[in-house]
Amino acid sequence: MFDKILVANRGEIALRVIRAAREMGIQSVAVHSTADADAMHVRMADESVCIGPPPGAESYLSIPAIIAACEVTGAQAIHPGYGFLSENATFVQIVEDHGLTFIGPTAEHIRIMGDKITAKDTMKELGVPCVPGSDGGVPTLEAAKTLCDDIGYPVIVKATAGGGGRGMKVATSAADIETAFRTARSEAKAAFGNDEVYIEKYLTTPRHIEIQVFGDGKGKAVHLGERDCSLQRRHQKVFEEAPGPAISPEERARIGKTCSDAVARINYTGAGTIEFLYENGEFYFIEMNTRLQVEHPVTEAIFGVDLVREQIRVAEGLPMSFGQDDLAINGHAIEVRINAEKLPEFAPRPGKITQFHAPGGLGVRMDSALYDGYSIPPYYDSLIAKLIVHGQDRASALSRLHRALGELIVDGVDTTVPLFHALLAEDDIHSGNYNIHWLEKWLQTNLQD
Ligand code: ADP
Repeated sequence: MFDKILVANRGEIALRVIRAAREMGIQSVAVHSTADADAMHVRMADESVCIGPPPGAESYLSIPAIIAACEVTGAQAIHPGYGFLSENATFVQIVEDHGLTFIGPTAEHIRIMGDKITAKDTMKELGVPCVPGSDGGVPTLEAAKTLCDDIGYPVIVKATAGGGGRGMKVATSAADIETAFRTARSEAKAAFGNDEVYIEKYLTTPRHIEIQVFGDGKGKAVHLGERDCSLQRRHQKVFEEAPGPAISPEERARIGKTCSDAVARINYTGAGTIEFLYENGEFYFIEMNTRLQVEHPVTEAIFGVDLVREQIRVAEGLPMSFGQDDLAINGHAIEVRINAEKLPEFAPRPGKITQFHAPGGLGVRMDSALYDGYSIPPYYDSLIAKLIVHGQDRASALSRLHRALGELIVDGVDTTVPLFHALLAEDDIHSGNYNIHWLEKWLQTNLQD
């Protein structure tokens, strides 16, 4: 059993991990940059260590600083949260080389899934359905043209090392392929230092459906159904729900089993998410995230499980506390991501919070590191809160979301809360009739200056 774990992250996700640790009787160590000395995760942890100056690259991404913080405090394990070092295989290797435990999958699994081409090949072999496209990287424009004529337009050119929606370009016809290919490559080079790209058939009206999986690292794995994260802006999720309004129990059971079998076969450890595009009743694998996702609370709400507790358990070598037959869906949950951003351009707005009041009551969960008087530093992600609601069914979850948004007070900075009020007035949101392009189109007509 761990006595003490270090949380290599900040903000709401650091609090999330500290809370799980405390409930398990495990001490927690926060790390922070000089810009975060007054942050909530620092206040809430049992101990804290300053690991560097404000830029992430010099603090939350500094592997030596984080390892040193473990050595100084005697922490035995590291929870990476999401983002930062959570999908960095080299970090995992270094953690293990220092006799510490990484709370997450092995370096090898992270490496496989972090390279999108290898991930796709692996999934294909494991029987997971994939989007039709190139077999591996596409080295030249000529090769791209030949392939696209073959699979048919529209196509999407994607960075092998991609993430966060960067390095992706759509070509609707042969006339666009040259520009799409060249810009995707140069964006990929700039963002990831690797200009390799691959090409997929571009699905025109899919939903984004992702399957939560969990493995014990010893060949046992379960799935916890799907989340529908189709409401996206610039490929970034803003509103997530579980179960997916378009997915039937039979489809869930089928794709869920495909995914849990796949991760069981590779002895996957801990939480993972297998992401699909879903169109006309078919699932197409796009990527696997080898970490806890931002939107994990909607799954926790409907299954009544604590995924972080479970991550810590399996990292300790304990068995999972549930099997597939223990997992049943109860009701419906929705999460909205509240960012410190000014609409309509979604421009980041760090600044001082003059007043903060979190909504509460039945079926409401607020994961946030805000407090009255807190100054949001300008160096990090603009996510300041996740509001999660749980109801008996989708309609009651939506009315609960409306009620909870009405109670929320965040004064001092602009936030994306007005977006959610506006979305709740839309019939398509109530009927669940949306795909991955719905929000972008809606923003163009509804959120103009
Ligand atoms: P990233 O790792 O950068 O987030 P993903 O491969 O997960 O990249 O894709 C992000 C989003 O881009 C998807 O949720 C979807 O909206 C869109 N997308 C990716 N591949 C396709 C495709 N083949 N057809 C249509 N849209 C796609």
